Amino acid sequence: MQKRALWKHCLLTCVVSGLTCVVLSNDARAYYAAVPQSQQLTRPTTLAEIYRIEELAESQKDEAIKQLNALRSRFDAQTPLSDQREALSVLIQIYLDNDQRDLARKYITELQGFGIQNHDKWATASALVYEASLYNKNGDFPDAKIRIVQALALATEVNQKSLTSRANIVASVVYKSLGEFQLALQHQLIAMDNLEEGSRHADLARANAMNSISLLYLALKDPQSGLDYNEKATTLARAMGSQSLMGMLALNRGYAYADLDRLPEAIKSYEESLVIAKKFDHKEEEAIALNNLSDAAFRMENYKLCIKYGKDTLDLSEQLNDNSLRASAYVNLGLCHMGAGEVPIGVSEVNHGMDYLRKANAKPDIEQVLGQFAQAYEKAGMYHEAYKTILEQLNLSTELFRADRDRAVSELKAKYDASQREKQIEVLQQKNQVQTVELKNKGLQRIIATLATLIAVAVAVTIFMLYRKVRKTNQNLEEANVKLAHQSTRDPLTGLLNRRAFHDTMKYRTELRERRSSENQNPPHALVILDIDHFKNINDTYGHAAGDAVLVEISNRLTHVMRDKDMLMRWGGEEFLVFLNQIPVEKIPQVVERILISVGARPIGFEQKVIPVTVSAGYISLPVGTESEIDPSWEKMLNLADSALYMAKTRGRNRAIGIETVNVMPSEFDELLQGNLENSITEGKVTIQQLAGPVQNEILTTF
Ligand code: GH3
Ligand code: MG
Ligand code: MG
Repeated sequence: MQKRALWKHCLLTCVVSGLTCVVLSNDARAYYAAVPQSQQLTRPTTLAEIYRIEELAESQKDEAIKQLNALRSRFDAQTPLSDQREALSVLIQIYLDNDQRDLARKYITELQGFGIQNHDKWATASALVYEASLYNKNGDFPDAKIRIVQALALATEVNQKSLTSRANIVASVVYKSLGEFQLALQHQLIAMDNLEEGSRHADLARANAMNSISLLYLALKDPQSGLDYNEKATTLARAMGSQSLMGMLALNRGYAYADLDRLPEAIKSYEESLVIAKKFDHKEEEAIALNNLSDAAFRMENYKLCIKYGKDTLDLSEQLNDNSLRASAYVNLGLCHMGAGEVPIGVSEVNHGMDYLRKANAKPDIEQVLGQFAQAYEKAGMYHEAYKTILEQLNLSTELFRADRDRAVSELKAKYDASQREKQIEVLQQKNQVQTVELKNKGLQRIIATLATLIAVAVAVTIFMLYRKVRKTNQNLEEANVKLAHQSTRDPLTGLLNRRAFHDTMKYRTELRERRSSENQNPPHALVILDIDHFKNINDTYGHAAGDAVLVEISNRLTHVMRDKDMLMRWGGEEFLVFLNQIPVEKIPQVVERILISVGARPIGFEQKVIPVTVSAGYISLPVGTESEIDPSWEKMLNLADSALYMAKTRGRNRAIGIETVNVMPSEFDELLQGNLENSITEGKVTIQQLAGPVQNEILTTF
């Protein structure tokens, strides 16, 4: 369920502004790193001094400003222009970092004047970059875009690495704010290409770049990759002792955790960022941390706490006079009040918040808020309003979809939006089933009928969109969409796809294969069937709830080792099936080994208990290596993999057996399936591979 859409808005505007600040200040350092050694020797003193002051600004902003102004007052006609503009740039960066927007604006104007007076394109381009950043901070994305496009053109003329990199970083930020993630990613990559290497400053810039990539992954709804990049950036920031960067990274990490539904870790990260933000007096970051804590409380249905944090956020947003934060705070407060049963107040607050979003024309945010709003209405039993709101959301998302001209982005959006809507519809469907019984005698069937129509329309729209994409796009996307189309058939305990979904998918795949003759040139697929070892003992020793927790944890671990295009299913009680999509035969053992290790290398923790667990596996590629021309159905191949799994069990468990080749005539295949695999191996009809699982600690394995 989508409960925290708004925080994304907040993250993309406010936190990214934070990102801009740090990136900008570090970029000047990257500039020094970019200046060739010989050149540095000719004017080391002033530059070194500016650089030192800039470092100082991280911990003592006021002192840094004082020293910088003192330095600037000593400048005269002999001072090189490049030193003058550097000092001015650093001053602007410090003000932007500390969110003193009026002062930043004042010095940006001075830098513009400097550029005109000295015909200095570097200064003019820099001023435009800062201006774009400022507009972005103020939530005026269209104007930010105009400035950054001009800055990029000038930067190309100047052709200097640090400027190019800085302009592209801000371009990435602005496009991200506009929801144009593909463009944002392109600019981020150009920025990375232009970063220097091998110095501390370059490392800082790199940490920021990785943070940006992490944010892009979050925006593209891949929180696990977002978290991975955040962790890399954090390691670098920690090694360099950059506290303020760590504060911002903690904030974004909290967001990634929240996206992964790992709320306690999210809260820990937000609290970490709150402490650092307070320490450095970063009001905006503090406000976002509070805001996101309020979201986490909302999701844990702790409305009292959620309202408290929401009010704190609102206070700070008033102090900062920041409309996008104010919008967040009002929407969140409203949703929390609705959750707490104070529906009329809540509704008016959400509407008030949305007014701000409408003024800023922040359509993607409005679309997401509408989703949350509909859920809140639904929870309050106001089905008519829920219906109207969800319809508005649907219209808006269709409009957004159409308006997006970038094909790649459209495809991604279609993929993810469709999946979200599908899940939402699924939930509504389930709720309706329960409610039908309750509401039968209350004359509310009309509402149910309306909802049913809505669901039918939404499903039709979703299917139509997917169908169009399936026709247009390449094979990978087709198969990804096939996955999406079946996502509604999930196992309730683990959230994994279930048997039915896989049957449907394989049926579809077979049809596709028949239609597409080039299929044969693609790498084969593979099936891996897994069964938890001695699972009954786990239930008996630790209880059924522990058994359930083990199933959920194993499904998480397996999900992490899968590639995006693979499919993971809960096949039965404690059995899982992995479909490896297009995998060269020689790579299969590697992946299967990874699977065994991911499950068995670490025991699973549950309520202070440490539960050791391993799996056994059987695997086979589709088609399998054969001497004769046989191509049995996937069901038969799975049967053979299952026999291999059985053999893995009898040979001691915690291992995998793979069918390598099958050397029988087509007519003998069914007989082979019915026979004993050990015998078939002895007779040379089948060859196998065996892979050992991770070594188990003796104490842990004694059951
Ligand atoms: P082996 O290594 O031979 O596979 O032994 P095993 O104990 O894992 O296999 P067995 O088939 O004897 O037992 C499987 C157990 O899994 C029995 C069943 O109660 C349990 N089980 C099946 N589904 C669930 C579930 O959803 N939750 C829990 N907690 N247990 C389940
Ligand atoms: Mg079993
Ligand atoms: Mg078992």
